[in-house]
Amino acid sequence: MKLPLIDLVRRHAADGPDAERALRAVMESGRYILGENVAALEREMADYLGVSHAVAVANGTDALTIALRALGIGGGDEVITTPYTFFATTEAILAVGAKPVFVDVRPDTYNLDENRVEERVTSRTRAILPVHLFGLPAEMDLLHRVAGRYGLAVVEDACQAIGADYEGNRAGAMGDLGCFSFFPTKNLSCAGDGGMIVTNSERLARICRALATHGSGENGRLAAAGLGSAPPDGALPTDKYHHYLAGYNSRLDELHAALLRVRLRRLDADTARRRAIAAYYTEALRGTPLVLPASPAHLSPAWHLYVLQSGRRERILARLTEEGIATGVYYPVPVPLQPACAALGAKPGDFPVAEALSERCFAIPLFPELTDSEVEWVADCVRRAALEEEPG
Ligand SMILES: *Cc1c(COP(=O)(O)O)cnc(C)c1O
Repeated sequence: MKLPLIDLVRRHAADGPDAERALRAVMESGRYILGENVAALEREMADYLGVSHAVAVANGTDALTIALRALGIGGGDEVITTPYTFFATTEAILAVGAKPVFVDVRPDTYNLDENRVEERVTSRTRAILPVHLFGLPAEMDLLHRVAGRYGLAVVEDACQAIGADYEGNRAGAMGDLGCFSFFPTKNLSCAGDGGMIVTNSERLARICRALATHGSGENGRLAAAGLGSAPPDGALPTDKYHHYLAGYNSRLDELHAALLRVRLRRLDADTARRRAIAAYYTEALRGTPLVLPASPAHLSPAWHLYVLQSGRRERILARLTEEGIATGVYYPVPVPLQPACAALGAKPGDFPVAEALSERCFAIPLFPELTDSEVEWVADCVRRAALEEEPG
């Protein structure tokens, strides 16, 4: 038997005839950009998350970049974030010209250590950018407390966490802005790249919408006025060929939106299945030397990935590869130690928790379409590999 880390062919099979119909309807409509499916998906996402505004964009990286720009963050500003995440979180901070300030993660949840954020706040700090890593929400209450004390914005990188809850609130719906990705492997995904920004601020939503569409038209004029870079002069023309901000071409395609609407309807069922599989793994792997993923009682993770820790990682990965079970390492290099971040001057030893996790963590297959017998087989193979004696 061979098992991938995630099986997108099975995900498509689960879409059924509803998706076929929706995609065909888009093709036949001749309307491929900013049509009724994008508008409907924005409403449905906002309802799902319990926020008032959602703005669809081209991908999760753009969502983060546009969210930071909507807050007016740029050159000379600092944004506090985590060193242990996908590179795009930091890339967005760098893309707007701001400086990422890294705070090491907690050894139990792997998320930004909320108790160490305050000591890194300076007069240039503008925002905190936590990531809900692997689908486990960061400690938002404590982050909000620090943000409130210093007047900082909170932007959530919820790209891995759609469907997760923090004390009854949806991940991504708790900050000034929340950012999502619909990349094919994410918990809610399209057939390519896609993303979404959500917020309860009408003003921020308008700026995001303007930035995503070349800063033109009525949204562009009002957004520029909101950012203080243009007079709110109602006499200025508001057709789409008058540009008030230099933004981006960052839109979600109608085809993707149509597919996402079908998949959003089963997201809660998918998340429930992920939780059941995670619970099975955790039960089956208890009593092995593996460090199991944390699941504190006040958090309901979305289980984007099921990540274990071992000091014998390479040996265990080799064993699982022999069995035909795919694995992944998230993430092999902490962001500040990436070559692209060399100019920031971090050195090995600066982020001891993130660095240890980079050497010890690995993910095993967890996706909603796994069968019970596959789940049992994976758990059994991982358990045997973890308990195996060192050779020689
Ligand atoms: C996937 C991901 C992103 C970027 O999303 P894209 O749609 O690939 O641009 C950002 N942050 C995190 C934590 C992610 O997992």
